[in-house]
Amino acid sequence: MNAKWILSSQERKKLRRKRVLRTGLTVVALIGLLSYFITTPAQRKPVPTETDIVSVPTLMSQPVQVDTLSAKEILVGADGLAEEAVDHIIVHRISNGDTLSTIFDQLGVHSVMYQVLAADESLLALDVLRPGQKLTFTFDDDKKRLLSMELFIHPGKQVLYSRFDDNNFGYEEIIHPGVWEQQLIDAEISGSFYLSAKRAGLSDLETAIITNLFRDHLNFSRDIRAGDRFQVVRSQQFVGDEFTGQSRIEGVRILRRNREHTAFLFEDGSYYDAKGESLARAFRRYPMSGQYRISSHFSPSRRHPVTGQVRPHNGVDFAMPTGTPIVSTGDGVVTRVMNHPYAGKYVEIQHGSQYLTRYLHLHRILVKRGQTVKRGERIALSGNTGLSTGPHLHFELHVRGRPVNPITANIPMAASVPKDKRSDFNHLVEQLVAVMENGSHKIAALDTSRQ
Ligand SMILES: [Zn+2]
Repeated sequence: MNAKWILSSQERKKLRRKRVLRTGLTVVALIGLLSYFITTPAQRKPVPTETDIVSVPTLMSQPVQVDTLSAKEILVGADGLAEEAVDHIIVHRISNGDTLSTIFDQLGVHSVMYQVLAADESLLALDVLRPGQKLTFTFDDDKKRLLSMELFIHPGKQVLYSRFDDNNFGYEEIIHPGVWEQQLIDAEISGSFYLSAKRAGLSDLETAIITNLFRDHLNFSRDIRAGDRFQVVRSQQFVGDEFTGQSRIEGVRILRRNREHTAFLFEDGSYYDAKGESLARAFRRYPMSGQYRISSHFSPSRRHPVTGQVRPHNGVDFAMPTGTPIVSTGDGVVTRVMNHPYAGKYVEIQHGSQYLTRYLHLHRILVKRGQTVKRGERIALSGNTGLSTGPHLHFELHVRGRPVNPITANIPMAASVPKDKRSDFNHLVEQLVAVMENGSHKIAALDTSRQ
């Protein structure tokens, strides 16, 4: 429990604004039916644990005037407004059936939605709106011009989209590390593993991650019998007293009558058995066979040539003809199959608890959400959908919630824990097994320095 909720001036301002909102605002409930942006169920993603405010304004490629207010100046103005005239702020709590499109329609600023979506292209946070999440819209004096929109994803993560000129919005991620609390789930299997896991409180994604971990070693429908046990050490993130919905599987033991299967999450993001042998096959570096020219490199702080604003490129672009087969770079679970006006048709795959990949501008998608895929399995055909200057694949690799350069990143390649890391790993296994042996009353705070 060593992480603290450190407030920056930005967050303090937000809190102040929230207090004002609490006292003065009515929540506007809007019901929408038809649109493209379908409300999707929970999608879990590892969240970085460091206190961090990432400021990454983005903009579209259209020419813009540079001599307008900066996002910061507008924000200061917006906060001033918030304390004097709260009717310029509209809070919308997302309910079933809501879509971004219907919400913007109701507010009468439909065209602005595309400017916000353009800003979100490199983050894609607005594609997973869930009931209960909150959107806060801040307008100018005339209530006509949208100055900013904040998406409250969960208590540990918000995204603020702010206007910085007539045509463009930027974004800022606000991340509260909170604390990760470890718990043991220990249950006997009766019926299928899936149902037993669900009864014990594991989510569908967690269950899919676990079955995927052992897929080469254990057939869950054939090998598992009533009376077998499973133990899962799971960490969940809390900010204050609130659960953020983010969780991480730290260790698993499946105790069959005459065999034991284990998986432990090590510092490299990979799962190994108790002997230190990797459970998942190593990642592959490229999501296609054959060599294709890199048409745009990974660049988290790329500057726009006209405005000088930072416009991150969170992936790498490979120029390739439409229809080129695209494969998953690792074993995983498909967490998103979407169509975005700028990112085009895209697929997101979660690999264990720590890794995630995205494949954008696809022509055709060959997998469904919730499906498990193997490394090298064909998931799509490349294309030119969304806002794209030519046929190419935009490929992203995220580690613990952050995009990294897929060409140079350290990705799990080793089949076993390296020799010089063995004693660290053995120590970790001892700790996790102790939690499993000592039962659920023993709840230990996770050592966050490992992150
Ligand atoms: Zn790209």
